[in-house]
Amino acid sequence: MNGPKICRKCVLPEAPPEITLDADGVCNICADYAKQTAAAREEKPLETDFTKILAQHRGKHEYDCLVMCSGGKDSTASLYYMKTRYKTKPLAFTFDHGFETEDALDNIKKAVEKLGVDFMLFRSDFMHDMFAKIINTGSKAVICHLCSIWYMDLTFKMAARFDIPIIIAGWTKGQSLRQPAMTKCACNITAPEFARMGAATKEFIDQHVRTDPKYKDFPASMEEVLARAQKRHKALVLSPHWFLPYDSQTYVETIERELGWKYPALSYPAKSTNCYLNFISAYNSMKNYGYTHYHVEMSKLIRDGALTRAEALELLKMDFGKDFLNKIAAPLGCKIE
Ligand SMILES: [Zn+2]
Repeated sequence: MNGPKICRKCVLPEAPPEITLDADGVCNICADYAKQTAAAREEKPLETDFTKILAQHRGKHEYDCLVMCSGGKDSTASLYYMKTRYKTKPLAFTFDHGFETEDALDNIKKAVEKLGVDFMLFRSDFMHDMFAKIINTGSKAVICHLCSIWYMDLTFKMAARFDIPIIIAGWTKGQSLRQPAMTKCACNITAPEFARMGAATKEFIDQHVRTDPKYKDFPASMEEVLARAQKRHKALVLSPHWFLPYDSQTYVETIERELGWKYPALSYPAKSTNCYLNFISAYNSMKNYGYTHYHVEMSKLIRDGALTRAEALELLKMDFGKDFLNKIAAPLGCKIE
């Protein structure tokens, strides 16, 4: 087999100095995980903690929570449980940078109609010049990370505008576990697996984004998004997936049955619901780093026993070609080299 060696336990490739393999073919992240005590690992958040927080805020504002909806299984399940299990009044919120799939938007439309919740769709081409610049300059900045800085800032602004006390994200345990809310949603540049991606994204923002008058107010980092949010409105960011007693198979079956939710025909990784641009982002990450942030997330799930290594390798297969990527890049006026 060609390409870098992959950790025998997770799906991270050897990428020194951040990711190294020992003589047994196990990566340093898996080795560190094995050293953690069972107690530290088992620190499971209690659902009663979550319901207590909800009870403090319920009914005091026009909406109890702003639910970020991508149309994927995790966020659709979040909306479903916030309405049915936790009895809140949610405002569903979707941001579309112009590359959302029809299948994802269709899932959202069905969910909000069936649940009878208010829904706000924000569609904007604002980020297109930046996406094009990443592609055209061959920058190693991660499109998804830059985008998440944009949409988290936007989400906090929307929560402030409608005075909504809680933001509900659909992050699963692989993406975040009771982090000081947000650091894991994208650019956790302190985690070794994200160090190079985070540094490249930061450099791109400093050099190309904030120097452009159109983007002069763009946050320098996710930390700045959080700092601004703290000053503005202080909405809490939580995910019901940290507390719910269900695995993904169970909640997917539930939303399929109750909301008519469907897996999108096209998405990377397989069986996810990510936007079209994500194909380019993932392709670039493989080219620039030898892995994507999905490899990082799935490796975490493997360590936690929520996914097998074989399943992850299957989901992470890249079976799309340049023609497909160029069709996606065409509206940006870009060509994938
Ligand atoms: Zn590993």
